[in-house]
Amino acid sequence: MIEKMLSNLDWLGHDCFRLRAAGQIVYFDPFQLSGDLPPADLILVSHEHFDHCSPDDIKKIRQAATVIIAEKQAAAKLSGKVTAIQPGQTVTSGPFTIEAVRAYNTNKKFHPRANNWLGYIVTVEGVRIYHAGDTDYIPEMAGYQADIALLPVSGTYVMTAEEAAQAALDINPKVAVPMHFGSIVGEQSDAERFAAKLVNKIKVHIPQKKSN
Ligand code: ZN
Ligand code: ZN
Repeated sequence: MIEKMLSNLDWLGHDCFRLRAAGQIVYFDPFQLSGDLPPADLILVSHEHFDHCSPDDIKKIRQAATVIIAEKQAAAKLSGKVTAIQPGQTVTSGPFTIEAVRAYNTNKKFHPRANNWLGYIVTVEGVRIYHAGDTDYIPEMAGYQADIALLPVSGTYVMTAEEAAQAALDINPKVAVPMHFGSIVGEQSDAERFAAKLVNKIKVHIPQKKSN
């Protein structure tokens, strides 16, 4: 089930992933989208920063029935019907259960905890997928349960590859997937350092970027 879910999880660069599950399509943090894209049933936006909350990209995949979930400030930047949620809230949408969890910085100022910006744990077809958003390694992670964990590794605005490896050990997913590298900030080498730190501990899947 995990392998099948991973094979249906496309990385579109930076923090943008598209998952096909239960006959539906969910996009996480759609950004720099191009080409012919399957429309979204569900869009999850972690926070208001331009590289995570992109109204122009959302336009490309939104249909009348698309459900959009975001934190409050991101929701305010998006037109039409958007559900604003806070850390600790759980909502369901079709086959998806969406748990909003905390994402914040501990040793830098870009993502204050008080902003209530988000990561998401999505459960579908019995698999729990955690998209961490922009975050440092935070104590709450020890309480997160996930089969697949998508973790930022770039440093600068979020945790470094080494910190992300520590986070992965706390969360202990079946598979960890590095993100937040290769476009705005972070290099392939960050993803590789993350994987190297977890050898023989946690399986790491370094995603190949798809163009659409
Ligand atoms: Zn950010
Ligand atoms: Zn970011």
